Amino acid sequence: MCIAGAGIGGLTAAIRLAREGFEVHVFEQKDVAGGKLAEISGSGFRFDAGPSLFTMPHYIKNLLSEDISFQFKKLNTLCHYFFADGTFFPCPAEPEIFTVQAAKIFNEDKNAINNHLKYSKYLYEITAPVFLEKSLHKRSTYTTATGLRGIVNLPFIGIHRSMHKANSKRFKNPNLIQLFNRYATYNGSNPWKAPSTLNVIPHLEMGMGAYFPKGGMISIARALQKQAELLGVKFHFKHSISSITQKHNQITGLVANGITHESDMVVSNLDVRLTYQLLNQSLPAKIKKSEPSSSALIFYWGIKGTFPSLDLHNIFFSSDYKEEFESIFDRGTLCKDPTVYINISSKEEPTDAPEGCENWFVMINAPANKGQNWEAYRQKAKELILRKISKMLQCEIGPLIVFEEFLDPVRIEKQTGSTFGSLYGSSSNNLMSAFFRQANFSAATRELYFCGGSVHPGGGIPLCVLGGNIASDIIIQKHHAKR
Ligand SMILES: Cc1cc2nc3c(=O)[nH]c(=O)nc-3n(C[C@H](O)[C@H](O)[C@H](O)COP(=O)(O)OP(=O)(O)OC[C@H]3O[C@@H](n4cnc5c(N)ncnc54)[C@H](O)[C@@H]3O)c2cc1C
Repeated sequence: MCIAGAGIGGLTAAIRLAREGFEVHVFEQKDVAGGKLAEISGSGFRFDAGPSLFTMPHYIKNLLSEDISFQFKKLNTLCHYFFADGTFFPCPAEPEIFTVQAAKIFNEDKNAINNHLKYSKYLYEITAPVFLEKSLHKRSTYTTATGLRGIVNLPFIGIHRSMHKANSKRFKNPNLIQLFNRYATYNGSNPWKAPSTLNVIPHLEMGMGAYFPKGGMISIARALQKQAELLGVKFHFKHSISSITQKHNQITGLVANGITHESDMVVSNLDVRLTYQLLNQSLPAKIKKSEPSSSALIFYWGIKGTFPSLDLHNIFFSSDYKEEFESIFDRGTLCKDPTVYINISSKEEPTDAPEGCENWFVMINAPANKGQNWEAYRQKAKELILRKISKMLQCEIGPLIVFEEFLDPVRIEKQTGSTFGSLYGSSSNNLMSAFFRQANFSAATRELYFCGGSVHPGGGIPLCVLGGNIASDIIIQKHHAKR
């Protein structure tokens, strides 16, 4: 069987299917596995190019056998938050400590914070077994006790109001509201439009912990590739797929580098829009209508100097968060005062930067690519970012940059096949968007399956693993039944 693309979803499906005895061939345009999970290096600096926040490590660990070395540590501090009014909050990872310190810094009621975290956990317990770990599109999902519990609790999971509305009802302090609203960006959405069900995300980070993998995020992809190879998965790197073939609505294989590879089953880990293009089929209306998630503008800066006030994850918030999301999603432009995220893996992995230096991954959320002038946007963004962080850190950052690379929506699209350069497939800006994503199997073409960030259950490393699990479970169950 063939898997198209070696991102997290494709690697997950490859490992699980090979373990079940399937002969698995993975076709990947790049020369290495991982997809958006990639790295770049230069002038003695190493950067994780894509994801930087690692949550729910057990999903990765569960895919690996004992003989694959994959280590990670739990973070004590989640993020250093810098607010526009000068408030600084080093956010503790332990929920009890977080509650006490957040109540003090933001002058909020401890019970309100505690109730928010409890609600986030409740949302996880209700939604994960039904809406994340199972296919939304199989009747069997809803006929189990957990499935029924999920359905019964639908009115209580916040699909009827926005995340911002729920958070501003719960809290008084605008900085604390901003901190919790930010979780909508973990799947590329706008907290003023996304359902408050996304308040499940704080539990994933605060309740279940944030982690750092030894060797950086890239070691996740390396461990998965190694595991797949050990199980006999055959990787065909530098193979660009130009077509996924079918006859009488049954998959027949794919064409890569101009050569036809016959297969009676294909799992596509490609962006769903690209998959339909390669199938030569028109996009289902619900996918055509879905709004892409946000993209990003990233600078990889080698910095001569070290900053004790910064941690592994750092956020410099915008002074007008609503305006930032309106710029990104409604106007397709950058705002005047973007929220800046800085990830510095050399804080945890000193070899990622030369001595006396730090590797800064500096990111702002950006609109999906609709043909904007990205070179002009990039120059403007650099100017805005440097002005903002130089002021907030009280140090001219520009002259300290000794290495620079960048990633923008056009490059994301080109390098990973992600339509519009979106980071997480479609956004959750529609209250019902979870139900509009592509299922993990095709209803129209037999033996075509889907996994990855643009299909159910969505983007981000943990969800892409779950998508790979769901697609492979469907295949395994179907083929066991046949055997
Ligand atoms: C800048 C950035 C920051 C992010 N931050 C985080 C984070 O902190 N935490 C988190 O959990 N997630 C984060 N994400 C999201 C996360 O990286 C993705 O959701 C996830 O890695 C996507 O995996 P996937 O399975 O969809 O495959 P992808 O990574 O999309 O991989 C698809 C693969 O298909 C290949 N491909 C495409 N077209 C073809 C073709 N025609 N022929 C052959 N191969 C092809 C591509 O080369 C690629 O390897 C971030 C993403 C980006 C880009």
